[in-house]
Amino acid sequence: MNAARAEIFVADRLISRGREHPEGGDAVRVSQGQIDATGRADELIASDPEATVSRFAGHSIMPGLINSHVHLGGDCSKSSFDVLCSGAPDDVRALIRANARSCLRAGCTTVRDLGDAWGYVARFRDSDADADSVRPTVLSAGTPLTITGGHCWYLGGIADSAAEIRSAIDRSAGDVDLIKIMAGGGYMTPEGPTPFDAQYSTELIGVAVEHASRYGLQVAAHAHGTEPIVRCIEAGVSTIEHCGWRSGPGQRDQNEAAVRKMAQQKTAAGDTTPAVWRGIAKYVTTPEYKFGSQLTWMAENDVRILIGTDSGVPGTEFDQLKLSMELYEELGFARGDIIDMVTMGAAEALGIGHKTGDLRAGMAADLLIVAGNPLNDLDCLHRPERVIAQGVVYSQQDLGDEQS
Ligand SMILES: [Zn+2]
Repeated sequence: MNAARAEIFVADRLISRGREHPEGGDAVRVSQGQIDATGRADELIASDPEATVSRFAGHSIMPGLINSHVHLGGDCSKSSFDVLCSGAPDDVRALIRANARSCLRAGCTTVRDLGDAWGYVARFRDSDADADSVRPTVLSAGTPLTITGGHCWYLGGIADSAAEIRSAIDRSAGDVDLIKIMAGGGYMTPEGPTPFDAQYSTELIGVAVEHASRYGLQVAAHAHGTEPIVRCIEAGVSTIEHCGWRSGPGQRDQNEAAVRKMAQQKTAAGDTTPAVWRGIAKYVTTPEYKFGSQLTWMAENDVRILIGTDSGVPGTEFDQLKLSMELYEELGFARGDIIDMVTMGAAEALGIGHKTGDLRAGMAADLLIVAGNPLNDLDCLHRPERVIAQGVVYSQQDLGDEQS
């Protein structure tokens, strides 16, 4: 078979930005890993009679999903980063390979890795030895910046002063796609600052933002608590991960001035509601407080929200983005808006909207073919019929566990 032949995928409809494609059509033509045309099947076939044609009656074609927050080097167990920190390269590599494959199974053709150790994820992204592996496009933040004894200090990214922050960025800039900074404490380092506390001053977060921008890199900041969130907004980070607006156990804040500034300067919130959110919501929802209410509040204030699973940390899996998306449906978000949040909305916020996230000629052929219409039922996103990553077509059978 001629490898250069284009492939035309035909379904019932095309979906773009969580809506029926503005130009209509029912087909996408893919050539050399890119979308080269969208439109009506009869016209695309007539213009390229040599192309192979695959028909999916009753299906929709849409952009691949973007999981904005994963840790490919984590194993989702209670000791999730033990393998990663063990320094046993073969074990870490096998773990990252399996996790990347699992992401693709859930239709995620792009994932943003927000923290590993030793640069393993970036090496996996670049290595020829793994070029054959079944995986999404990976954006890597490398090792997160943190303070001595701070959140995830054991990953090795300690930088306490402005000079240390700058030199850590200088060292990693050539390998990473963005910088991650632990602006506040977290749950995985009980001996460090609490999740409600700030770790860095506004000035030092600003140093990271300014220095990363010299390399054209975004900064993603970890912040659960209101105080670190406000500092991140002041410092101008690109995304605030978790972004729970919490000042203590059981408390949620609504800082109106800060959220308005967040929206104005287009700082996105990187939500990491875990797939098992229903079990958590049962315990934390009270008559005064509804689980997820900070998401509704941010959306009402025009803050862009990204959906990530934080997969790799305890109690998560890599193939369950759709379960996290269900929370938004429960909160009353329109299905089309939820789909936009995990496709073009995310791509734009992550600075890759010119490469992926939509069905347009010239973009990467990152596509899903899903049974039914996701605008009517998000369930069809859970295990897409076909996942096409950079033009390579996978069935769910292809995406089962790797045989060793
Ligand atoms: Zn995380």
